[in-house]
Amino acid sequence: MPKLIIVSNRLPVTVKADKGQLEFKESAGGLATGLSSFYQERNAVWIGWPGDVPRRHQAEARVRLRSEYAAEPVFIPEATVERFYEGYSNRTLWPLFHSFPTYTRYTAADWDAYRQVNAQFARAVVDIYEPGDQVWVHDYQLLLLPGLLRADLPDACIGFFLHIPFPPYDILRLLPQRREILAQLLGADLIGFHTYDYMDAFLSAVRQVLGYENRLGQVAAGERVVEVDVFPMGIDFERFSAESETPASQEDLAKLVRRNGAPEQDRARIIFSISRLDYTKGIPQHLDGLEYFLEQYPEWRGKVVFVLSVVPSREKVDRYAYLKREIDERVGNLNSKYADLAWEPIRYMYRNVPFPELLALYAAADVALILPLRDGMNLVVKEYVAAQRCRGGVLVLSDTAGAAKELREAIIVNPNSREEVAAAIHQALTMPEGERLARCAAMSEWLATHDVRWWAGRFLDRLIEATDAARGLRQQELEDGLREELLTAYGASSRRLLLLDYDGTLAPFTERPEDARPTPALLDALRRLTADPANEVVIVSGRDRESLGGWLGALPLRLVAEHGAWARAAGDDWQQLGPSRVRWKKQVRPILERYVERIPGSFVEEKSFSLAWHYRAADIATASMAARELIDGLTNLTANTDIGVLQGHRVVEVKNERITKGGYYRGHLAEGGWDFELALGDDWTDETLFQVLPEEAWSIKVGFGQSAARFRLPAPADALALLGALTAR
Ligand code: UDP
Repeated sequence: MPKLIIVSNRLPVTVKADKGQLEFKESAGGLATGLSSFYQERNAVWIGWPGDVPRRHQAEARVRLRSEYAAEPVFIPEATVERFYEGYSNRTLWPLFHSFPTYTRYTAADWDAYRQVNAQFARAVVDIYEPGDQVWVHDYQLLLLPGLLRADLPDACIGFFLHIPFPPYDILRLLPQRREILAQLLGADLIGFHTYDYMDAFLSAVRQVLGYENRLGQVAAGERVVEVDVFPMGIDFERFSAESETPASQEDLAKLVRRNGAPEQDRARIIFSISRLDYTKGIPQHLDGLEYFLEQYPEWRGKVVFVLSVVPSREKVDRYAYLKREIDERVGNLNSKYADLAWEPIRYMYRNVPFPELLALYAAADVALILPLRDGMNLVVKEYVAAQRCRGGVLVLSDTAGAAKELREAIIVNPNSREEVAAAIHQALTMPEGERLARCAAMSEWLATHDVRWWAGRFLDRLIEATDAARGLRQQELEDGLREELLTAYGASSRRLLLLDYDGTLAPFTERPEDARPTPALLDALRRLTADPANEVVIVSGRDRESLGGWLGALPLRLVAEHGAWARAAGDDWQQLGPSRVRWKKQVRPILERYVERIPGSFVEEKSFSLAWHYRAADIATASMAARELIDGLTNLTANTDIGVLQGHRVVEVKNERITKGGYYRGHLAEGGWDFELALGDDWTDETLFQVLPEEAWSIKVGFGQSAARFRLPAPADALALLGALTAR
């Protein structure tokens, strides 16, 4: 039975060697509980780092992890962990991906360790992989893994999910290794993000760094197709909404909130916040907001308690140590500024919070104040809503958390505005009960249906679809057996139609279109093909008449220029087939010219029935962004007309939509009584032809990417070799 291989930096179980004894501690994180139901069904194995385990205990740990936890450990050498984990993962990627470029450190040795560890993970996956398995890679510590796996397992089904934000391109460009990281990520069949923003930023980076375009999230990445989609992660709703608070923790809380034995109705209201110690979590901003609140609404002094729970994390990274000091100081100052004998505004805890206590705090909090400056999702807020069970608590959430995209009924604020934060706390404390309950009910309903099992299930279903789609879109490579079949069919036929595109098919692209003149080898191949009276050779090109006529006019073949707007039989004059008027050019030309001024290295090509903006020689990052904008603008302008705007290989072309290569074939060639038809082409203009050819025709796409063609050849040189082979028989 095929298995599901889950790969994350940490295993959901930590192994420790204590006085020669191995201790196993399971963590019940969102991911581990979310995937538990898939464990049995899909026969899953989890690969990850179990924590530092001394060498002499590793063999035993491996055996026990395998048999008791269905886990495969990756033991990272201690010296490497520091550079890989604290280093590249948490000093480089974490701050940069959270848009904190000034906190980001770039160290070549950290990057080396990161590559080494990713390679070590790849070996661990390859070791247990069997055909048919699904591999699901998680998070920013393993960005290179999809590509490393693809190199070893070309047919594997590989998914990747990023749990943190993906930064805007202007920030990503600061990363020296961005190109390698993006290229390796695209080794996956499916890449998932929490929100549409992150997905959009990723697609834009892929376009600008690698020059790969996408259509509705489907990236044409060289020879592969990669799906990109949004999967907001949910929580284990049932676990948090179950009535499982322990009486002990309830009592502790009661003590906390009752003011020196005051009656229940007089209890202080609880404002609760919990986050890991991290500069992305905006903990100082929480304190700013609270202080301003106590200033602006002094009537609440003595009547609210801010329970601030900070969970220790990454203490080995300096930034975290500074932050800890800053928080300690701020809390001390605020408490001494506002406290009286009976009351202190802040209860501050710096420690891990056991699960029952966490549930009790969630349930008791009148207000949850969660203000990350940037957060991939933030699960705490979802847990709060679930654990509240609509008891009337209100969520105040910053708009920079991924969760803010889903939890629209929260009070959403900008964490940098203490005015907004203070007003939101006041609004939460004074909100009528009906409204509080209604808001919470709406959010609970969403979270109950979009829980972590739903999230994982949807991702894995999409992964199967994406892999199937990617395989379906791959044309069959025209290799030995098939090539032989083609040559035999050619030899056995007596009325043959050979439809050949020029640029990108017979001749490779050049920076300036006028440099792509035919080589002697190409001219020779065409000469030999046309010498056979059984062959009708047609060059079907988007080029203008002048270049085609000048380069190929002396050969006895048919030329079709401008995608079918002009045609010329061997030895004849050009015939115009396109419309007689092209009024739209007057409007479009100045727009294209504006782009020529804006984007150095680009130029406009004018043909009788079309205008094209070429940007092959321009800076690809800027030019591809401009091309998108241009296409949007022109598409609006030409809506409801028969003028089409088309994106080609680093060119945007505007032309009459009724003129296509496929249209030319249907009108002039389809009824030719051929017993052998071959078409070679490389881009979207050839697709119109591939789509209308009879099923048995030999349609061949030159290059990679989606196509309606049946077969594929890698490059123009292969196309030329095929033409040579036809006449060699
Ligand atoms: N949590 C924990 N230990 C604690 C307190 C909380 O593991 O002492 C859990 C909490 O329940 C939540 C997770 O840690 O599931 C934090 O996830 P979130 O997405 O909010 O932030 P992250 O720390 O992953 O950036």
